[in-house]
Amino acid sequence: MDTRFFTTWIEGIAKAVAENREHLTALDAAIGDADHGANLDRGFTAVREALAAAPPDSPGKALTLTGTTLIRKVGGASGPLYGTAFRQMGSVLGSAPDVTPSDLATALEAAVAGVRKLGGATEGDKTLLDALAPAAGALRRAVQNGTKTEDALDAALTAAREGARATIPLQARKGRASYLGERSIGHEDPGAASTVLILAALRDAAG
Ligand code: ADP
Ligand code: MG
Ligand code: MG
Repeated sequence: MDTRFFTTWIEGIAKAVAENREHLTALDAAIGDADHGANLDRGFTAVREALAAAPPDSPGKALTLTGTTLIRKVGGASGPLYGTAFRQMGSVLGSAPDVTPSDLATALEAAVAGVRKLGGATEGDKTLLDALAPAAGALRRAVQNGTKTEDALDAALTAAREGARATIPLQARKGRASYLGERSIGHEDPGAASTVLILAALRDAAG
């Protein structure tokens, strides 16, 4: 996977976030402050502009620029969290021109670790980690089994979807939704839903 693959991925995220802005906002209206769609749309619009203004010459640089831009442009919790996730991926990949599926799994694992460290959440707290961590695990297992890239990314997407759906019956223990206590039960976590969009765009980038 080359720089083009990664810029296609990021462009795909920007498009999906714009298309699903109202859906993400509705999810956040139920258990948060109704800005998740707007936060991410603002962030990824800025990312698109940043990539166009200074086209990166490696996958790692594309991801780092994405992360830095999200941190700079998104005020909500999701900005620093996703920003850190992308910066961690960029840092793992460095300036290598080509990324293997195994490198990508390592990068996603680093993203998970970065989000965990920054946000202090663990799986089951009803956050984006509940979609991201299973996705990274599924990608790693698929890569270890020698699964071809498209199918490995399919497995990661399926795991993210299942993880996001599994947030519905959970009570939030981190972020704004945790203020609602038991009233957070019965709703999908908005960040887990946006993580599914990110993994779906990754799958699509593989063609
Ligand atoms: P805010 O809550 O500041 O308005 P957003 O609405 O953009 O920010 O993002 C909310 C999402 O951020 C949540 O749905 C959850 O997935 C994620 N989130 C919040 N706090 C944490 C945390 N400590 N660790 C991981 N993810 C978190
Ligand atoms: Mg919000
Ligand atoms: Mg907010």
